[in-house]
Amino acid sequence: MKIIDMLITNKTARPGTRITPRGLVIHWTANEGKGANAVANRNYFNKHTTEASAHYCVDDKQTVRCLPENEMGYHVGAKSYKPDALKRLSTYPNNCTIGIEMCVNKDGDFQNMYKNTLELAADILKRYGWGIDHLWRHYDITGKSCPAYFVTDSFAKRFTGLSAEQAWTKFMDDVQKILTGNPQKIQTNVDKVSIEINGVHLPSQGYLKDGVSHLPIRAVAEAVGGKVEWCADTKQVRVNGHDLTETIESGISYAPARELAAALDMQVEWDGACKTVRFSKGCACE
Ligand SMILES: [Zn+2]
Repeated sequence: MKIIDMLITNKTARPGTRITPRGLVIHWTANEGKGANAVANRNYFNKHTTEASAHYCVDDKQTVRCLPENEMGYHVGAKSYKPDALKRLSTYPNNCTIGIEMCVNKDGDFQNMYKNTLELAADILKRYGWGIDHLWRHYDITGKSCPAYFVTDSFAKRFTGLSAEQAWTKFMDDVQKILTGNPQKIQTNVDKVSIEINGVHLPSQGYLKDGVSHLPIRAVAEAVGGKVEWCADTKQVRVNGHDLTETIESGISYAPARELAAALDMQVEWDGACKTVRFSKGCACE
């Protein structure tokens, strides 16, 4: 993650008020113009006529720090706030939140910007010891359609291919995945299961529950070139168009080995002695 420091000096947008952060707010710039990247948005905040600011601007190449995290920015001010924000943040949420602006300049790569934002968000959450319940959309605080690809279906579809709620859930899941870090990390009170695909061990593991092996869907599917998608209607992960019986543990989606094998059109074998699930390509002669 590349972060460059370009703290703004415009006092209209950086009053220098000390804050103790209690939450992280996600925004988008809503500016799809060419060149409207992180530095450009930071420079906009620094114009003496601008009364808005956020702590970070993120584009597809880098993250620009505009304000220290313990100083107030003007990113969620409004005439009125949603009850949950008033309850969990304050009567003036600017005074206790860190703001991230996601850039959507059309000469940038949305997926890379998204990835950079995930890393920054996870890093902030980790440093403050927060869970994803400390993540807010601007919308959750004031009702503004920001970031629109997590609030408004038409924008969400265009940018993410998902519904807005689904895209926001996925964003939180993706942050959670970074927070939990190691895909091998699963509950300690369950039996771990190794995975072998065409004779090759996967670094990820599954777990055994009630005699059924549950395997990390994405790790297995992607290892054999399976197509993994998030289904907005059923709120499920699909593999090669098959709905799976999904269980989420520490932010990772697992499915029973046999279902996964069927979706991937592979044979599956259970080696009880080695606690290993073995996948192999089905033989045409069978
Ligand atoms: Zn916003």
